[in-house]
Amino acid sequence: MLQPQLLTPALLEPPGFRPKGPSIIRLGRPGKCGAEPTFTVSITDESGSTTNLGGADPLGRRHLELGRAFARMAGACRGSCGNCAVAALTFDSPQGDLAPAALRDRKYRSRIGQHFGSTPRTDGSSYLAPALARAAELAANRNGGLRQLVVMTDWELFDREMDVLEALSSFDHVLAIGLNRPVPEWAHAPHVTPFTLGAGEPTGALAAAMFSELIRGRVGATERSAR
Ligand SMILES: [Zn+2]
Repeated sequence: MLQPQLLTPALLEPPGFRPKGPSIIRLGRPGKCGAEPTFTVSITDESGSTTNLGGADPLGRRHLELGRAFARMAGACRGSCGNCAVAALTFDSPQGDLAPAALRDRKYRSRIGQHFGSTPRTDGSSYLAPALARAAELAANRNGGLRQLVVMTDWELFDREMDVLEALSSFDHVLAIGLNRPVPEWAHAPHVTPFTLGAGEPTGALAAAMFSELIRGRVGATERSAR
């Protein structure tokens, strides 16, 4: 049994991780569940243009910060709706996936720490559509509620644009993150919020963007902590 207190420091500062920027952004409060339970699934790009030296995310900050945002939600659904959940997929799904985990369970923080602390960087697929189909399938298996998606990629994709757009429409809301590159115009849609993570962003900016999606529709939540 892994102890969360042993894993959390690794989540914050894994070996080789060099924080950039002047400060770490502190995440706010997750608040209470809204009228509907939420299911948030993330998809991360593990292709060479993202992970290689000179790529959009060579330090793997996307995993670290995604883990940080997820961990902040641990226990948030307890005593509230009890049905909110998160899942994390990669372009190479099912390789590197984190199966759906319930937000009510504080213990899932240790699973997340273990998962995101050990996800190998690979020269993975540049196709987004297969993972999107898997995410849509997971979302469809939930009984109602808000279906949210977070995609993190440099948008150097081999997919047909229409395949990606069609799959994005399976979700109520999409946070489209462009790693070191803006989200292309073709992926813009009314239910898609584009967010560009530039190289000069402070440590925690990606976690904060992800967290803002996780607290969508929640009551009394705050995006950032004042201290
Ligand atoms: Zn809930």
